[in-house]
Amino acid sequence: MGTWTADDYYQGTKAAIAGGTTFIINFAIPEKGKSILEAFYDARQRADSKVCCDYSIHVGITQWNDRIEKEMESLCKEHGINSFKMFMAYSFMLNDAELYSAFEACRKLGALPMVHAENGHIISKNSEKLLAKGITGPEGHELSRPEEVEAEAVNRACVIANQVKAPVYVDHLSSEKSGKIVDERRSIGQIVFGAVTPSSIGVVGNPKNINLISSPPIYSNPENARRLLEYLASDVLQLTGSDHCTFMKDQKEAGKNDFTKIPNGVNGVEDRMSVIWEKGVHTGIIDINRFVAITSTNAAKIFNLYPRKGCIAVGSDADIVIWNPNKTRIISAETHHQAVDFNIFEGMECHGIPEYVIVNGRVVVDDGQLRAVEGYGKFIETPVFAPYVYDLDNADSVKPVKNGNIDGSSMDNQLSTPKKTVHGEQSCPTPTLPESAVSTPSCKGPRPEGQRNIQDSTFSISEELDLERKSCIRVKNPPGGKSSGFW
Ligand SMILES: [Zn+2]
Repeated sequence: MGTWTADDYYQGTKAAIAGGTTFIINFAIPEKGKSILEAFYDARQRADSKVCCDYSIHVGITQWNDRIEKEMESLCKEHGINSFKMFMAYSFMLNDAELYSAFEACRKLGALPMVHAENGHIISKNSEKLLAKGITGPEGHELSRPEEVEAEAVNRACVIANQVKAPVYVDHLSSEKSGKIVDERRSIGQIVFGAVTPSSIGVVGNPKNINLISSPPIYSNPENARRLLEYLASDVLQLTGSDHCTFMKDQKEAGKNDFTKIPNGVNGVEDRMSVIWEKGVHTGIIDINRFVAITSTNAAKIFNLYPRKGCIAVGSDADIVIWNPNKTRIISAETHHQAVDFNIFEGMECHGIPEYVIVNGRVVVDDGQLRAVEGYGKFIETPVFAPYVYDLDNADSVKPVKNGNIDGSSMDNQLSTPKKTVHGEQSCPTPTLPESAVSTPSCKGPRPEGQRNIQDSTFSISEELDLERKSCIRVKNPPGGKSSGFW
């Protein structure tokens, strides 16, 4: 907080598409004391005309009071929000009693509480001591928050959630120790989800490198990434989220003499798929089906977007990635599509590239060429009471309830009798491909019937064709011109 991230909704979603991600959920985090409804409206306003793919929003809870609770209800019932993020560190963290109440409110609403799990009090005491000793550089960051400081908060979040029978989602879970806690909790039947970031998988922390500062830290333990991948493979952890939050080099440098002032966050949205493939699938730790689950399907299920998203089937949105495992690319800030001026994965060779990416039926990466269209995406409501979260037994058959139309009676006891689960039992079935396999639209042919015509949409597209790096793409009919498609 206090400084702006480098990528806006246009840059961020363009980069997502370029890397093979066809849908994002971004955070709307209000400053402490501000309305969460306002934060939501503000995010919508900044996103709607910018996004190149569909999106939803997680809303941040940065304080706790009656007004916030009322606004949560309004967000769930009227605005299509089903997830809220609470912080256990930073100046806007909630204390245990507040977390208890916020989790309870989520459970009543059928929403999913997400946590930034680190012990903020321990971090600030450790930071004071380190600074007093003269350890002021970026190496102080990880020293102030060793693995157990994260694991303690993960455990505490799980304990609090269990007291109110709420599910809980541990965002950007970064250490083996924290994974173990989630494993224990899931094995006694608690509904806990853990998300891992590509930075924890693709990079070994270097305490001297200011550009890697993120929280929880990218740990310097070289075994950490492998353990996280094994947890992802065995369904101890369920998904990968980018936690994309970028700052320019000079913004990072502003904290070079006081590590507590380095803005936290690194890139992830563009390279998420490639990094997980390279480190997980290419190395043989994760199989291809599990790759689909942890990068796409599980997120769609947890946030109640399935089977509209996260699935290739008749009636689902045509958001499809065609992945070529035989091609390679080298990640570099020189060629990435993010606004940020460095890339934490610089120089990594990745086997596997998104050769074609289709967003809502439109080919937006065509044989490796990016054709993102600003404003093409739209906000998608996430209905409450996701069956995969609140009604696991019937998750495969129950249709998502309409957002806001909460059937409290049927859901009331869903979480009060935890059931023993075994690793892998909750892993998602591989989406079944319909027999009429999806054809790849040709870049030269006419638009297939039923496909959305951007020229008919209400979005303004006068400056939206992303042509800056693609001189080879010819646009015969410019935006606003005749009605034929762009490709
Ligand atoms: Zn966080």
